[in-house]
Amino acid sequence: MPATSTSAPIDPALRAPLPVLGRDVTVPLVTGGHVTYAALDYAASAPALERVWDDVAAFLPYYGSVHRGAGYLSQLSTALLERSRDTVRQHLGVRPDDEVLFTRSTTDSLNLLAGALPGDTEVYVFETEHHAALLPWHDGATTVLAAPCSAQDAVDRLTAALAGRSRGRPGLVCVTGASNVTGELWPVAELASVAHAAGARLVLDAAQLAPHRPIDVGALGVDYVAFSGHKMYAPFGAGVLAGRADWLGAARPYLAGGGASRRVEVTAAGTLDVQWHGGSTRHEAGSPNVVGAYAVASACRALAEAGFSALVEREDALLRRLTGGLAAIPGVTLLSLLGDGAPRVGVVSFVIEGWRSSQVAAALSAEHGIGVRDGLFCAHPLMRVLVGAVHQGPASGRDSRPQGRSQHAIRASFGAGTPVEHVDRLVDAVSSIVHEGT
Ligand code: PLP
Repeated sequence: MPATSTSAPIDPALRAPLPVLGRDVTVPLVTGGHVTYAALDYAASAPALERVWDDVAAFLPYYGSVHRGAGYLSQLSTALLERSRDTVRQHLGVRPDDEVLFTRSTTDSLNLLAGALPGDTEVYVFETEHHAALLPWHDGATTVLAAPCSAQDAVDRLTAALAGRSRGRPGLVCVTGASNVTGELWPVAELASVAHAAGARLVLDAAQLAPHRPIDVGALGVDYVAFSGHKMYAPFGAGVLAGRADWLGAARPYLAGGGASRRVEVTAAGTLDVQWHGGSTRHEAGSPNVVGAYAVASACRALAEAGFSALVEREDALLRRLTGGLAAIPGVTLLSLLGDGAPRVGVVSFVIEGWRSSQVAAALSAEHGIGVRDGLFCAHPLMRVLVGAVHQGPASGRDSRPQGRSQHAIRASFGAGTPVEHVDRLVDAVSSIVHEGT
């Protein structure tokens, strides 16, 4: 096996500052024996921080139904739900009159917002978005912008798309903070200025950004932000939608039911007369996921205390190690949309000439105990652009394993808690698969 990244000495600064659960999980290998699992699929779901686990475990014996119970545990849970909301509010730097809603996930948050848009809203979205940000909007009123080739190109394309729009109609631009395929950071503040200059609002899909970067809603100038707890080291199916209160307050509740309604009467005509709550409870009917909200708030606190600058510095060092190691393997192409120099979070996708991505991912798991993801990553149009560009050259055909012309790729993603050894193991394993077929 040729020397790869493992030949570089390990900088002590690369030690994981925020421990996560699951670091000692061992998995069987088809070749016999066991190995410590290397979780490199953080972009799908990140392992929980130990700190989150501790906080949640301490709370579990005490949870109760929020907002309605008179008992001690209900009161406690209500207080913790609202305190969690305040923590998220501070973490995101939202404006004082913004709402912070707990949802199930980013997908849920964006669907909630889609349902709350004024009827004639025009929506603008790049084709490069994750399906969660591409699909919730009403088809008829949605303009899909072609993939940009740089951050400046994204700004220019949005400027051109919004140039002739009527300010009489509400507008919404939906954009990701960091791509779930390339990890590249989008010029969110610039795009928000373009949207505002054209009288439109902007919602930030922060599913991949929130685990890796601080988000300051006020400083970025975004109108809404959505993210998922399970991608930022908090399990239990909770997400967040935060942003301007007017559209949310005027919309029909996302979930109709107990808690969202202030007064319900049956009229003489046999119909229902309902007065809905305003504020966050309007959209959080039923029994909210108080444990999930608490876990999200715990993760926000832990990330802030660890300090994003330290986390980013370490992540950048791991990224250099990973991309340098992979790029040195013959046949490997790293995927990039915004250009090689674009800053990115710990998400790296690649294809290998002559290899099916699914075969490589399966071999990484079965033979090396490394968990990555392969496929289209819920971003079909983006993958068509990215992998289509790679395939424009002729197929090598030097390998007996069929390459096909699929748009699938392999994605490795990491973050807080990832030991440098996992990154090195991935590079060595890909090298070994490519060179030796194992
Ligand atoms: N947006 C981006 C950029 C994502 O990467 C994902 C999930 O991978 C989503 C939205 C949807 O997140 P969730 O599945 O938590 O709803």
